[in-house]
Amino acid sequence: MPIPRYAVIGHPVAHSLSPFIHATFSRQAGIPLEYVAIDAAPDAFDAVLAEHAAHGGAGANVTLPHKRRAAAICGNLSDRARRAGVVNTLIRTATGWDGDNTDGVGLVRDLTDRHGQDLRSRKVLLIGAGGAAHGVAPALLDAGIADLFIVNRSGDRTDALADALGEPMRVHPRYFRDLGTIGSFDLIINATSIGHSGEDMPLPGSLIAPRCDVVDLGYGEAAIAFLSWARASGADHTIDGLGMLVEQAAESFKCWHGVRPDADAVYAALRARESALAVPG
Ligand code: NDP
Repeated sequence: MPIPRYAVIGHPVAHSLSPFIHATFSRQAGIPLEYVAIDAAPDAFDAVLAEHAAHGGAGANVTLPHKRRAAAICGNLSDRARRAGVVNTLIRTATGWDGDNTDGVGLVRDLTDRHGQDLRSRKVLLIGAGGAAHGVAPALLDAGIADLFIVNRSGDRTDALADALGEPMRVHPRYFRDLGTIGSFDLIINATSIGHSGEDMPLPGSLIAPRCDVVDLGYGEAAIAFLSWARASGADHTIDGLGMLVEQAAESFKCWHGVRPDADAVYAALRARESALAVPG
């Protein structure tokens, strides 16, 4: 029987850690599989996915910029994918693809189980309204946060995300330009891709409440500037997106194979690799 094939499809995708993560899960669980990274330019997603299916693709992770398109091509969406409006996990069916979204559960599990955070009753600022923000916002609300303030560079996308969440008592869209007067927060989450661009996102230190925790969904180089700003502004804990990455992958693995892999072991391996790379020489 041919080894089932899985992929992460994105643009860019060459530096994705997902092939390493899923290869490790596969060894842990004793489930043979092939998992590759496939680059698909913005207008090439459908063709690339069709080719993946033709070559025995049984599932795929979908990343920037294809998560919305992925949701549109699905026959069925899980509840959490429907609420998010975006899909990061595709499951092959007899007739096409079903879609799920594991980003939200991945973030919440990383924050609560790995970092010991209690999300209940927290006042949260979410910066960004792209695919990742759509994925994590419903899960934060489900985790019992008190209020979710959303700001995004493009105001229309802020409003679209707030409207889609459908909880006007708890969800508050705001303008980026008002960040200086918006108050302070217990938890701030950067869900923008600015860390990949080298551009600056000047933010006022007044956003940081006492004992505020700050999360960047990015990791590695991409998270350095934002988390440095947070530490310099007095944040209590700063957390990058590496744990979320591993947790969302573990949840995707479970969707495909019915088995929850040991995410902690893979997280530790990635942190060790990161430290080794940071040692000069
Ligand atoms: P999208 O392209 O869907 O969204 C990008 C977001 O960043 C938009 O809100 C966009 O605003 C904003 N943005 C981009 N450039 C700037 C800028 N110069 N100033 C202010 N805002 C800007 O990307 P994703 O939502 O998929 O990814 C966002 C981040 O989350 C990335 O760093 C990605 O690596 C990370 N991520 C991490 C995951 C993990 O498992 N750790 C999983 C998924 C994502 P606008 O709408 O105005 O364009």
